[in-house]
Formats: sequence, structure tokens, C-alpha cells
Amino acid sequence: MDLGLTDQPAIVTAASAGLGYATALALAREGARVALCSRDLERAGKAAERIEQETGTTVRAYAADVANADSLRGFIDRAAEDLGGLRVLVCNAGGPPPGGFTSLTEAHWEKAFQLTLMSVVRSVHAALPYFRAGGGGRVLAIVSSSVKRPLDNLTLSNAYRPAVQGLCKSLSIELAPNNVQVNCLAPGRILTERIQQLDEAAAARRGITWQEVRARSEGEIPMRRLGTPDEFGRVAAFLCSEAATYINGSTLLVDGGAVTSL
Ligand code: NAD
Repeated sequence: MDLGLTDQPAIVTAASAGLGYATALALAREGARVALCSRDLERAGKAAERIEQETGTTVRAYAADVANADSLRGFIDRAAEDLGGLRVLVCNAGGPPPGGFTSLTEAHWEKAFQLTLMSVVRSVHAALPYFRAGGGGRVLAIVSSSVKRPLDNLTLSNAYRPAVQGLCKSLSIELAPNNVQVNCLAPGRILTERIQQLDEAAAARRGITWQEVRARSEGEIPMRRLGTPDEFGRVAAFLCSEAATYINGSTLLVDGGAVTSL
């Protein structure tokens, strides 16, 4: 199937590693012209180089902190200008820190609000003029399976991810007449640096090894394994593509069947 992404200008935020990187790679494999950011320009540049080497496309790299309003807006504007327009916006960010309710301070809540929710608000806001100029666009927000089922010890994710989902649903209604489709992609457990860190933190809390934590979490997934970033990236590219133009306001799980509710 031709995904119709060839030469389409695409921005992926927070993409030097993990799911953002996998999404940028999958889009580039389909021929999209990708711009990505990370807080560290060197890391972003190395990620872009790796993608360029594999795909033969040109990938632009920028330094931007998605939790910072000016930095994020500056990135979207520069990237869209350099790309000569914008068709695809993938909103990703680092995950909020783990913790139960009683361990969290006002500062934790404020920081996660900026990182998880406001980064999507601001990215879409900055992208809209370019979507309008180009006759439409597609937004994909990377959320978490916590939008369907709260996760143990991830209170901030459990609170803010559904807020992002609600925002995207609202945007999908408001922006549809402008030919802008908005969807969410919800990973369950995909093996990235973050999952490694979360498993190590859980191991330290419970006094067991991270391998035991991993084995238990794999045991709770019907497919009995974690997902790979590549498995995630390919679904992300599909949802951003011309093959998915009538999908709007949806949230798709990529979780190996871990969320067992209907
Ligand atoms: P990761 O920590 O492996 O990678 C995060 C990426 O974001 C890195 O490139 C990092 O440099 C960049 N980044 C972090 N904070 C940033 C900031 N303020 N500004 C710009 N760039 C920033 O995480 P991941 O596993 O790839 O997950 C991506 C997102 O998906 C996270 O929000 C995570 O919570 C969520 N998620 C992941 C999983 C999973 O299974 N991996 C599951 C549920 C939710």
C-alpha cells in the first residue's frame, strides 16, 4: 500500500530516541521530509544522521525543549519554514516521572502539566497556520495506555494523558472542517530507554531485579513480550498517512492486547 507520504513535510517532537525516533524513522522510510527535535542538539543531530543513513532522505535536527513555550514555538516555526510547509505533526515528549499521589509536589504537577499537556496545546497552535496554508494536516499525539487503564505508580501519566486525549478529541471536532485530522496513539510497553528506567525504578522499590520486573510485566501481556519501537513507528506512520484520511478523533492502542477491556 502506498501511504502517500512521499515528500510530505513532517515534524516529530522529542525524537532523538525511543518512540519519537522510531516514528521519525518510519515516516522517513515512507519518503516524508522529516524535522525532529530534542533538548540536546548533538543528540538530535546524531538521530537525524542515523535516519538519513538508513533512508537516504534529508532529516533536519533542532534543539528544543517541548516543555518551554518559546523554545517549542521557535522550533515549529523554524522547522515548518525550513521544510517549506507542514502536513504532519507528531507530538511526543519525555514521560512524566513515576510516583504515587503522596510523593508528588505542586512542582511535579506543574512540570508535568507543561511537558505532557501544554506541549501538545502549543505544538498544535504553532502548526495551525502552516496547516491552513497547505490546505490541511494531520496531528498524532503519543499518549499512553494509561488513557484506558491507570498504571501503577504513574499518577502524573494517569492524570495528564487522558487530558491530552480529551484535548485531541476536541481538536478533531473543531479542526475537521479545515481538513485537519487529530488522533492519539497509545503505547502499552514498548522497549525503550524509558521502559528500562521504569523497570529499574520498580525493581529498586520492590527489592527485586529489573529482569524479574520485566518477566512479570511480560507475563501480563497476552502476547508475552514487550513491543519494539519499530512496531510502534510503523503504526504511527500509517495514522499520519494518506491511507488513514478518514480516521479522526481516535485513540489506537499498540499494547499487544495488554488492556483487556472492550
Ligand atoms: P524515552 O525516554 O525513551 O525517549 C524520550 C525522548 O524524548 C528522548 O529522545 C528525549 O531526549 C526526548 N525528550 C524528553 N524530554 C524532552 C523535552 N522536554 N523536550 C524535548 N525532547 C525531550 O521515552 P519513550 O519510551 O520513547 O516514550 C515516549 C513517550 O511515550 C513518553 O512520553 C512516554 O511516557 C510515553 N510512553 C511510552 C511507553 C513505552 O512503552 N515506551 C508507554 C507509555 C507511554
